[in-house]
Amino acid sequence: MSVFLGIDVGGTTIKIGLVSEQFELLTKISIDTRADSENADQITQRMMLTCEELLAKNGMTLADVLAIGLGAPGTILNKSGMYTFAGNLPFRDYPLREKIRKYYSGQIYFGNDANVAALAESRIGAGQGTANSVMITLGTGVGAGVIINNRVYSGFNEAGVEFGHIVINVDGEYCTCGRNGCWEAYVSATGLIRQTKAAINDNPDSILAQVAKEQGKVNGKTVFLAVDRNCPVADRVFARYAYYLQVGMANLINSFMPEIIIMGGGISYEGDRLINSFKQGALDEAMLFGVPMPDFKTATLGNDAGMLGAAVFAFDCLTDGLVY
Ligand SMILES: [Zn+2]
Repeated sequence: MSVFLGIDVGGTTIKIGLVSEQFELLTKISIDTRADSENADQITQRMMLTCEELLAKNGMTLADVLAIGLGAPGTILNKSGMYTFAGNLPFRDYPLREKIRKYYSGQIYFGNDANVAALAESRIGAGQGTANSVMITLGTGVGAGVIINNRVYSGFNEAGVEFGHIVINVDGEYCTCGRNGCWEAYVSATGLIRQTKAAINDNPDSILAQVAKEQGKVNGKTVFLAVDRNCPVADRVFARYAYYLQVGMANLINSFMPEIIIMGGGISYEGDRLINSFKQGALDEAMLFGVPMPDFKTATLGNDAGMLGAAVFAFDCLTDGLVY
């Protein structure tokens, strides 16, 4: 049997899956990344030994692997095989492909985690059947992956796309990237939490403040829980948040004209009420005249999207004859 190895390197866990040529997830395993206690060599070694163990459990070896696909945060370059920058992970200008090559002689492909997750959702998830899509992940930050003609689009230097850092409010909120007013500063979970806390400060007697007290903290769910309890303060926070989403989504549509925009990340679990809060406004704002309308959907692959996407990416690279 021939399989793809799909690897999703994350800040806290590394997920490894065996994926069939029909993109079925046959089996998977998850190990701690140990980003705080191990260096890049140690993490890579443990990751590859885990791959070998997973294959052995299923009666296979690395020789049965058609190709390895690996998705990771930050800047990981498919052409050069270098993991140049990884945020909180101890990879910096690290020759990751060369290191993996010691274990595996076949093709090894690298993609940014947001990009390969978008590819998985596009091919076998919420965007199945579409050729042009965008996935937006509303988490601690805002991840964006763009699929054009069934392929990941990452720009000439593989650094794209960073749609979370499109400015929607000049002189607006400070963003971690150094600019002010980025979309991410408003629509990430971090941004929503900031807006929720500000509303609680201004309205200490509101149901919203009561919900936060009951939760013992403010998180991305707080405002929605308070909306469920008919809190007018929460309604206003949600409406403003939806407006920030709307403006960015219209920008996204004007930039890429995707057939579908797929919503992922923790806040996306709000599902249709989230999408319905900005959808019509975004379509009205975008330049859409006498043409089919883009659609919005919630992601369906959950935590497996990165792993599956890495495998789909490996499949595409192999199909396109990339020799890495
Ligand atoms: Zn920014």
